[in-house]
Amino acid sequence: MPAPKGRSAAQARAAIQAALGQIGFCLPGSITIRHARCGKPRCACAADPPSLHGPYIQWTRTVHGKTVTRTLTPAQYQAYAPWFANARQLRALTAELQALSLEEIARAEGWAKITPGTPAPPRTRPVRGPNPNYPKPPKTPGSQSA
Ligand SMILES: [Zn+2]
Repeated sequence: MPAPKGRSAAQARAAIQAALGQIGFCLPGSITIRHARCGKPRCACAADPPSLHGPYIQWTRTVHGKTVTRTLTPAQYQAYAPWFANARQLRALTAELQALSLEEIARAEGWAKITPGTPAPPRTRPVRGPNPNYPKPPKTPGSQSA
């Protein structure tokens, strides 16, 4: 949420702080959802239209420098998707607070505008929210995902 014009830095900081205080459990890492063909020519996944296998929901994170992957059931993914969304919001709020702090030190010290610099590459890819198209709806011409 961008700060409205005229709001003081203290107010902006308080708003970020309040949002941080509302965050629930946060799960690190990223979710990858795949559907796949098995390669058997007579399988439904080879039909037209294909009925692919899956979803295979993989939760990937880094533990002591090593990638750890765990497969989630669709029910688990639905249950914990908000925790992944919380982690995404936490990262956004952290970035917002840092940008605000850079503005404040520049203002307080009379420095020229501080360039935020190149952000470090994210350690994890952004996590998608719950897929509204799961389970996959039948394709209808002109239909549009929400
Ligand atoms: Zn198959």
